[in-house]
Amino acid sequence: MKLGTTIISSIEFTKRISLVIFMAECPLRCPFCHNGELIETGEEISSSEVFKIIDDNKDFVDAVVVSGGEPLSNSDDLKRILDYSKSLSLETKLDTSGVYPDRLKGVVNSIDYIAIDVKAPFDKYEKLTGTDISENVKKSIEIANNSENTYLECRTTYVPSLLSPKDIEEIAKNISCDEYTIQQFRNQNVFDNSLKNVENPNPNELKQIAKDIKKYFKVVKVKTAEFGCEFV
Ligand code: SF4
Repeated sequence: MKLGTTIISSIEFTKRISLVIFMAECPLRCPFCHNGELIETGEEISSSEVFKIIDDNKDFVDAVVVSGGEPLSNSDDLKRILDYSKSLSLETKLDTSGVYPDRLKGVVNSIDYIAIDVKAPFDKYEKLTGTDISENVKKSIEIANNSENTYLECRTTYVPSLLSPKDIEEIAKNISCDEYTIQQFRNQNVFDNSLKNVENPNPNELKQIAKDIKKYFKVVKVKTAEFGCEFV
């Protein structure tokens, strides 16, 4: 598999300290992707080397988060990492774009917490990601919702030039999950350089959008560079 980097984080898995493993490779090319270097490069690494990283950190963390890139690009390696983490009594989280529902089915029983990106209203996916993967995302959400012991977060990066508050309401009306997060677009380090001229949305604007769609979910959060992760 190809590895990007690893970090220790207190915000990637709510109320947990986690080891975050960023796996390289992704089949999508979202214009607002801030991990562009990850989707095209990465260091070749074996499963046993990843297990060693987990071993070295296991006494300091509660959970292992596998993010990317798209971790399901290498679903056999991903399953080995998740199962190894569970064998050490660590909780597990997967971040995915939802592009590979069939592969998700094969690993979902090893996941305690899954975050699926809902990048756009389902009829606008092609515009936002260059590929219409909306049916895959719908199936991935269904698989996660049907997995009894898996907590599901859906999340959207709010890019002002590509999405409107109405789009967020459209997304909210059409998904079902345990919590929904609006993430702030950041114009530094984006895949499509033309987005560098788009202003980062104001945290207050995002909180207002979140308040307006709160009625659709049990839990709604806003994630910004200024204030971190806030419950609305
Ligand atoms: S934002 Fe996520 S899904 Fe989109 S290209 Fe980047 S890593 Fe892939």
